Amino acid sequence: MKRIHFLLLVLMIQLGTSAQQTADTKTPEWKKIYRSTATKINDLVHTKLDARFDYEKSYLNGKAWITLKPHFYPTDSLSLDAKGMDIHKISLVQGTSQIPLKYKYDGMILNITLNKTYKVGENYTVFIDYTAKPNELKVSGSAAITDAKGLYFINPLGKEKNKPTQVWTQGETEGTSVWCPTIDKPNQKSTQDFSLTVPAKYVTLSNGKMVSQKKNSDGTRTDNWVMDLPNAPYLFFMGIGPYSIVKDSYKGKEVNYYVEPEYAAVAKKIFGNTPEMMGFYSRVLGVEYPWVKYDQMTARDYVSGAMENTTATLHTDALQQDARELVDGNKYEDYVAHELFHQWFGDLVTTESWSNLSVNESFANFSETIWNEYKYGKDAGDAVNFKDIGKYLDDESNPSKDLIRFHYDNREDMFDMVTYSKGGRILNMLRNYLGDSAFFKSLNLYLNTNKFKSAEAQNLRLAFEEISGQDLNWYWNQWYYGSGHPILDIDYVYEDATKMVTVIMKQTQAGDKVFTLPFAIDIYTGAKKERHKVWMNDKVDSFTFSYAQKPDLVNVDGDKILLCQKKDNKTLDNFIHQYKYAGLYVDRREAIDFCAKHQDDPKALDLLKLAMKDRFYDLRNYTLTKLKMDNEKVKQEVEPVLVDLIRNDPKSTVRGNALGLLTFYDKPEYKDLFQKNIHDSSYTIAGNALAGLMKWDPDEAYSIAKNLIKQPARGDLMDVLSAIMIQHKDAASFNTVNDYFGNLPLGQSKFDLVKPMCEYLSNTNDTEKVKAGVDNIVKFRDALPEQYGITPVINNFLKEVITKKGKEQSTVGDADKAALQQQIDYVQSKIGAEKKGF
Ligand SMILES: [Zn+2]
Repeated sequence: MKRIHFLLLVLMIQLGTSAQQTADTKTPEWKKIYRSTATKINDLVHTKLDARFDYEKSYLNGKAWITLKPHFYPTDSLSLDAKGMDIHKISLVQGTSQIPLKYKYDGMILNITLNKTYKVGENYTVFIDYTAKPNELKVSGSAAITDAKGLYFINPLGKEKNKPTQVWTQGETEGTSVWCPTIDKPNQKSTQDFSLTVPAKYVTLSNGKMVSQKKNSDGTRTDNWVMDLPNAPYLFFMGIGPYSIVKDSYKGKEVNYYVEPEYAAVAKKIFGNTPEMMGFYSRVLGVEYPWVKYDQMTARDYVSGAMENTTATLHTDALQQDARELVDGNKYEDYVAHELFHQWFGDLVTTESWSNLSVNESFANFSETIWNEYKYGKDAGDAVNFKDIGKYLDDESNPSKDLIRFHYDNREDMFDMVTYSKGGRILNMLRNYLGDSAFFKSLNLYLNTNKFKSAEAQNLRLAFEEISGQDLNWYWNQWYYGSGHPILDIDYVYEDATKMVTVIMKQTQAGDKVFTLPFAIDIYTGAKKERHKVWMNDKVDSFTFSYAQKPDLVNVDGDKILLCQKKDNKTLDNFIHQYKYAGLYVDRREAIDFCAKHQDDPKALDLLKLAMKDRFYDLRNYTLTKLKMDNEKVKQEVEPVLVDLIRNDPKSTVRGNALGLLTFYDKPEYKDLFQKNIHDSSYTIAGNALAGLMKWDPDEAYSIAKNLIKQPARGDLMDVLSAIMIQHKDAASFNTVNDYFGNLPLGQSKFDLVKPMCEYLSNTNDTEKVKAGVDNIVKFRDALPEQYGITPVINNFLKEVITKKGKEQSTVGDADKAALQQQIDYVQSKIGAEKKGF
C-alpha cells in the first residue's frame, strides 16, 4: 500500500498534536497487548467465488466454495472471518452433494462445526451462500464506517455528475472478509477462481488471468478470473467499471492499464515504464516477475492511495494526470514502482503479521530509490532517499516507535512513516554497508526461501547472515527491534603544528541509547579524496588523521547514507568545497542550505548562483526556493541567471519557478514575458506567468483568468486561477472552483485548496453556495481515516469561516444578519458532526 502523505506539520504545531494531548495520561490499554502472529488451525487452500453485484443496494450476492486443510493438529471446527454479512446457507461439499453444517455467527466471525474431525493432509470444501453489505457494516456498535469497508461502490446509481460508476475492493488490512468469507490474516495463502457477473457495459479486473467471458441473457456478462498461485486474502481483488484498457507487455506477459477513457491517450505516459521496471527488478533480485500478468487500475475516492493486489494493482485517480500536467513530469511514477516491487515483497513473500509489516513496506519504499537511481541517475535515487528521511522526521512521535512493533493500538497505525520511510532507509544503509552484490544476493535468498509463504524480519536477517557470513543481530536489534535515530554533533580540530585533524563526534539524542554506526570519513585536498572507514560505538568518539597539507574538507559520512539528524560544524569554505568536490546530492543540498543562510556573503551567493544551474533539476528548483529576493544585492546578482533559466532550462518546472521570481523586478519587459507565457502548455509556467501578470496588471490578469477558468485546468495554473477568483469574490466562477475542488483526488493538492476555499466561503453571502462549498470540504474531511490527522486542521479552517461571518454580522442589516446566522449554524453543525474514531 502507499498511503497519501499529508504535509500538515506547521498547522499541527499550532493546534497541538493528538500525541501531545494524550502525553500526560496513564499507559493506554493497548500497550499491554502483545500483537501475536495469528495461530493457524486451518489453512486456506483455494477460494472459488461467484459474485453478483446489486448496484441499487450496494450489496454483493456471493457464493463461495472455500477449500481448506488442518494446519497440523486434527480439527472438527472452522472459524472464518465474515464481516457484516447475511448468511443464507453453509454446507460441506461432497462430490455433487452437500451436507448442511451447523454454525454460529456474531456478525464478524463464522464458527462452523464440521461434519467430522479432519486430519493434516485432508482437504475439505465448505460452501457459503451469503450477501455482503459493506455500507451497513458497523464496527463495535458505532456509526457506519467510511473506510475499511473492503468493497466500495462508487456512484452506484449514476446520480453524481462527472463521476463514473465503479466497484472495487481494498483488502489490506483485513477488509476482504467484508465481501468474501475467508481466514483474513496475512499468514494465510490461497489460489483463486473468481466469477464476476456485471453489467455488460463494464470491464472487470481480478487476480490472475481471465480465462473466459460469457454473455448472459439479462444484459450481464460473467468474467472468470483464475489465479493459480497462492496469495494472501488481503491481496484478493475485484475492480469493475467503464474503463479503457490500454495494452502493454513484458516478456510475453500482458501488462494492462485500466484508466478512465479520457486518459487512454496519456496512459502510457503515466504507466509506460512498467515493463522496464519489471525487467529491472527481475534482474536485480535474480527472481523473474513471478505472476502470470500485471495490471494497474485507477479508482475514484480511493482512501488508500495505492494497493499491490497480486497482479492487479489499484491506484488513486491522482495518477490520471492530463497531458499538460505530464509536461511537468509524471508526479506518480514512484507509486508505479512501489506497487510493482510489492509483487515480490508482500505478494510472493508476505509479512506474517501486521507487526512485521516493514518486511513488505520498507522494500516497496526502498524500490523507489533504486528505480530512480537506475532510470534517472544517482542524484535522483539519492533525492528520494533523502526526502524520505524528512517524511520520517515530520512526525515527532515517530522516533519513539520500533520498526517491528508488537504493540499498537490499531493495526492501521502500522502504516506510518516508520514502517515505510525509516524502513526504506534502514535497507539502503544495509546495502551500503554490505555492498550491492551481497545485499541483492541476500534478497534473492530471502525470496527463494520464503516464496508463496509468509515471513518475519528474522527471516530477512538469516538470509543476510548466510550470504554475508556476518552476525547481523546488532543491526536488527538496533534498527528493527529498536526505535529512534542518532542525533549527531560533529566538530573538527585542526592542529597545524602536528599536521593532525581530529573529528569529534557526539550522539546527543535523549536517553541512554547509543547507536553503532559504520561510515566513511573522506578527507579532501583539492579534488583528491582519501577515504577512511570508521565505526562510531560510543556517545562520544573522536577520529584523528594526519595530513601533509591542511585539508579543504573533512566529510563525515562520505556516502551520505546515515539515517540521522546532525549539526555539522563546517565552515562556508568547507561547504563550498563539498558542493564542488564531494558532490553527492546530499553534499550539494547541505551546501545550498548553508549558503542560503549566509546570502550576504558574496562567496555564499556565488555558490547559490552556481547551484541555480546545478546538474540536477531538483536542486535547481530547490535553490530557487531559497533565494532571498527581498535582499537587493541577491536580487541584482541572480537576475541574469533567472533570465537564462527561463530561456534555456530543459525542465519546465525550473523555467516556471524562475519566471515566478521575476515578479520581484519592476521591469516592463517582464510584463511581456508573463503575457507570453500564460498560454504555455506547462501548468507550472502558465500559473507563474498569470501570477506575475496579476502583480503588474490585476485587471488584465482577472479578465484573462475569467476566460481561462472556462477551460479545464489543474496544477499551479488552477491554484492561481482559484486565488484570483477568490480575491475578486467572483461569484460567477464559484461553481467551477467548487467542482474543481470536489473532483480533485484525495491528496495534498486538495488539502492545500481547503484554506482558500474557506476564504471564498467567508467572502460570499450566498447561503446555497456556502452550503455547497462546506459540503465538499466536509466530504473530503470525512473520506480519510483519523490516522491522516487532517480532521482537526480542516475544522480549524471551518471555525475561521464562522469567526469571520460572526464579525460581519455586526456590520449589516437584519436580513443579512439572519442569512449569516443560517450560514454560521450550517458550518457549526458540520464541525460538530465530525467522524469519531476509526
Ligand atoms: Zn506499499
